Amino acid sequence: RVVVVGSANLDLVVTAPALPRPGETVLGGEFTTVPGGKGANQAVAAARAGGRVSFVGAVGDDDFARPQRDNLVAADVDVSRLRTVPGPSGVALIAVDQHAENLIVVAPGANAALAGLSPEDRAEVARADVLLCQLEIPVETVAEAAATARANGTVVVLNAAPARTLPAAVLSTVDLLVVNEGEAEVLAGRPAEPGDLLDLVPRVVMTLGARGAAYADRDGLRLDVAAPAVTAVDTTAAGDAFTGALAVAWAEGRPVEEAVRWACAAGAVCATRPGASSSLPTRAEIEALS
Ligand code: ADP
Repeated sequence: RVVVVGSANLDLVVTAPALPRPGETVLGGEFTTVPGGKGANQAVAAARAGGRVSFVGAVGDDDFARPQRDNLVAADVDVSRLRTVPGPSGVALIAVDQHAENLIVVAPGANAALAGLSPEDRAEVARADVLLCQLEIPVETVAEAAATARANGTVVVLNAAPARTLPAAVLSTVDLLVVNEGEAEVLAGRPAEPGDLLDLVPRVVMTLGARGAAYADRDGLRLDVAAPAVTAVDTTAAGDAFTGALAVAWAEGRPVEEAVRWACAAGAVCATRPGASSSLPTRAEIEALS
């Protein structure tokens, strides 16, 4: 069982022939709404990868909440700990030009209101095998979830995205850190390999895009796992596919190398399809590539 404590957004996406400069208005093309947010995406990724998943998070009391909730339910994610808070939902306003260059403003909305966990939320964390968090909700809430996990034997997997440095109170609770190269550099204060982060946390997985992933732990294990060769179309959400699948493999107690290989396959399948949360692979699709 995997519990995700994290963010949910609705991505409001419009295409445009060219991105506007400050003060400029451009006439765009098609408008779409897509459920997103790293927390919700990774919860859906884990559920599609075959995990039993529950999501602890918040949406607003506006019209943007329903599609987010429906998307989680459609993926079989347990939403009994998804709260509705007064005010707007988290949204990302995204403009994309014909070269796939984008402009994004995220309004955290309800995600910023996820301040503290209820006793029911903490019980959900306590009974899970793996807690999976990211950094799009208040870091104090991540710290509380991780401390609750620690105290109850739930393994803490932290995807330290978006990049930021972390208080010792969070780092000391992490069992497995998942980062890309940019996030690793921010945490280490310089370009870093997985082994360079072992003074912060006991196990590190670093995603390397088309090169796959690298793993290091304090027992001296070092792994380089190549990504399956695929024709990448859109790598949006590949990191979320990777992390969700990794959390499921970890909860199933699979050997490290197998878990990382499986996660790489999930990221690779995701990269072969356009879209974000809609391109997250099923367990059968991951198996077929791993
Ligand atoms: P992020 O978007 O978080 O930086 P990455 O781009 O590193 O994440 O992608 C996450 C994972 O998805 C990679 O570790 C890899 O396994 C897989 N992946 C991403 N891009 C490709 C690609 N072009 N070919 C194969 N696998 C890919």
